[in-house]
Amino acid sequence: MQNILLALIVGLAALAASKSIVVARANRVYANWIRPRRCERNIVVIGGGSAGLVTAYIAAAVKAKVTLVEKHKLGGDCLNTGCVPSKALIRSAKFLSHQRRAEEFGMRRPAGTDFSFAEVMERVQRIIKAIEPHDSLERYTGMGVDVVEGTARIVSPWEVEITQNDGSTRRLTTRSIVIAAGARPFVPSIPGIDEVGYLTSDTIWNLRELPRRLLVLGGGPIGAELTQAFARLGAQVTQVEMAPRIMMREDPEVSALVTQRFRAEGITVLTSHQAKQFLLEDGEKILVAETAGRDVRIPFDAVLVAVGRVANLDGYGLAELGVTTSRTVDTNAFLQTNFPNIYAAGDVAGPFQFTHTAAHQAWYAAINALFDPFKKFKADYSVIPWATFVEPEVARVGLNEQEAREQGIAYELTHFGIDDLDRAIADSEAHGFIKVLSVPGKDRILGVTIVGEHAGDLIAEYVLAMKHGIGLNKILGTIHIYPTLAEANKYVAGVWKKAHAPVNLLAWVERFHAWRRGT
Ligand SMILES: Cc1cc2nc3c(=O)[nH]c(=O)nc-3n(C[C@H](O)[C@H](O)[C@H](O)COP(=O)(O)OP(=O)(O)OC[C@H]3O[C@@H](n4cnc5c(N)ncnc54)[C@H](O)[C@@H]3O)c2cc1C
Repeated sequence: MQNILLALIVGLAALAASKSIVVARANRVYANWIRPRRCERNIVVIGGGSAGLVTAYIAAAVKAKVTLVEKHKLGGDCLNTGCVPSKALIRSAKFLSHQRRAEEFGMRRPAGTDFSFAEVMERVQRIIKAIEPHDSLERYTGMGVDVVEGTARIVSPWEVEITQNDGSTRRLTTRSIVIAAGARPFVPSIPGIDEVGYLTSDTIWNLRELPRRLLVLGGGPIGAELTQAFARLGAQVTQVEMAPRIMMREDPEVSALVTQRFRAEGITVLTSHQAKQFLLEDGEKILVAETAGRDVRIPFDAVLVAVGRVANLDGYGLAELGVTTSRTVDTNAFLQTNFPNIYAAGDVAGPFQFTHTAAHQAWYAAINALFDPFKKFKADYSVIPWATFVEPEVARVGLNEQEAREQGIAYELTHFGIDDLDRAIADSEAHGFIKVLSVPGKDRILGVTIVGEHAGDLIAEYVLAMKHGIGLNKILGTIHIYPTLAEANKYVAGVWKKAHAPVNLLAWVERFHAWRRGT
């Protein structure tokens, strides 16, 4: 009994010591500041994109006093220049691709599709307008959020100055701040780039005339999605990627399938090509790129720069205050910066750059900001899915083969070809595959890649399975509607099951049946 008591006292002392180190460190960053005795707000949120909106929503839902500051457009990137316009454009482009494939569906191919690029781009704007109310000032004000249209600047750990769009300024005191300032397109300083002029994912939505020859710099998801969409709309697209293949985060056969499709659709995909210089010769725009030690010249009419996105870290007081940053705002597992009452979420915090991860982080940032030190949660990144909306669509959750190898994680691979799936055949979309990585000898999923029609929807079953520890056996034992694409999930589980069939037991059962037949 005495020993137990002693161990308990030592344990508590160690815990108290480690806590006091954390508290001392935290106090040091506040040393030069005087904390206001009262605060007007529980949280001030900087940025009204996916991360900021969800933070404000959660704070208002739990009855906190919250101000959300947005300097440009509520909805941020996703609504205005990202997910929504890109998916709307992809839909119009897909319609055209289906028309071109008319004969595959038993139709006569129309002589030509009459459409105006400008009208397609106007439709994109209409879609944004239709979704806008979800992220609107009215909706959030109605929820109890104080929404301010203006630019926020952190002036102390507990104070935010807002320059409102009408030019007036106001200061708010707050217990916590959530930085949700997002990211912007990265534009590399390639000689000549300013002279030729360039488009980014921020500006491409203003186009009303289709460029005849579009050059896309970048083979990542944004570059790939817009490459295919613009090619389907009739531009001659050349996609230039420095790496040996496009969509480098995915396994090589995924890149190969997408590249094959792009090329079949008339896109020029140039991998292992490094952009060196832009030239303007007799009014013609030219990219000089280096490949295998030689220079190639690629003439074009417009260039889309899609080589990555950088976090917005400047101009709102982070450096002046001493909030530490690297490529993003530095945060701990609770999404706290080096000032424990200042949090960050979304693209500005990384490591992911998706709307759903921004929203996921926002929950942690809001709850931790409001309830620390009574209760706080570490952000859970164990099951993060994403999709790239090219055709064939690519979706992933957890590990793929290249990551498992890099991290030295042993895995068992189960593969199912969607080309053999009834519904995919009926839809003339019989292509792609599902690849499941699982723990060798165990029914535990490590990761799934799906390539094919509606891959982004099909992956949801595995996201649920991984999140809640459900294995392939349970997926196999679940009824899937016939004929659906979702049946592919069951079939891949069937392939896994077959590979784990109890061979010895089956030999005995065979003998049992023989005995029952009297043979
Ligand atoms: C072309 C494209 C397609 C995409 N497609 C998808 C997709 O299909 N699925 C997906 O999940 N993700 C997609 N994304 C990524 C997604 O858009 C981002 O991950 C998401 O918008 C990040 O949200 P956020 O809140 O962190 O940042 P943002 O949406 O960038 O919001 C930040 C906001 O902060 C504001 N702000 C900055 N500084 C201040 C300040 N000082 N004061 C006040 N306001 C400030 C900005 O004006 C901005 O509105 C796409 C992105 C692009 C570019």
